[in-house]
Amino acid sequence: MTVARILAEKGRSVVTVEPQRSLAEAIHLLAEKRIGAVVVVETDGAVRGILSERDIMRALAEKGAGALDALVSQHMTATVTTCARDASVEDVMHLMTDGRFRHVPVIEEGRLAGLISIGDVVKRRIAAVEAEHQAMRDYITMA
Ligand code: AMP
Repeated sequence: MTVARILAEKGRSVVTVEPQRSLAEAIHLLAEKRIGAVVVVETDGAVRGILSERDIMRALAEKGAGALDALVSQHMTATVTTCARDASVEDVMHLMTDGRFRHVPVIEEGRLAGLISIGDVVKRRIAAVEAEHQAMRDYITMA
């Protein structure tokens, strides 16, 4: 299965935040949307980074409550690993495992075109494994 097919099922919308917003604003966004990461984009749509709940936890551990006034740009990861729409679920799983993160933005023609989370990947892998098991059972009972 490809990233394009996952996006066709789940949609292409991505929750984003501007780099000059505060961590407090980002936290409200994460809570309101019930998600674990936001992609950081400039007003022109250019991707500048990614901010996840892990970054916020680290900022709070380092600076205490004062971190809430810090800028998103100060605590985001600026070097973002992305994938293309024709990447496979396995490709994305490898990116997540190697990079130790749970979110991979999708880029198409230089623009943000979706986001794949570890939940999306696990859901498709489980469905694929269950389908393989069912095919094996059908084959055995036919024989
Ligand atoms: P996560 O597991 O996605 O919550 O993120 C763990 C750490 O990896 C955080 O510091 C994130 O900013 C960073 N991160 C998350 N996704 C990516 C990505 N696609 N590329 C680079 N860093 C990432």
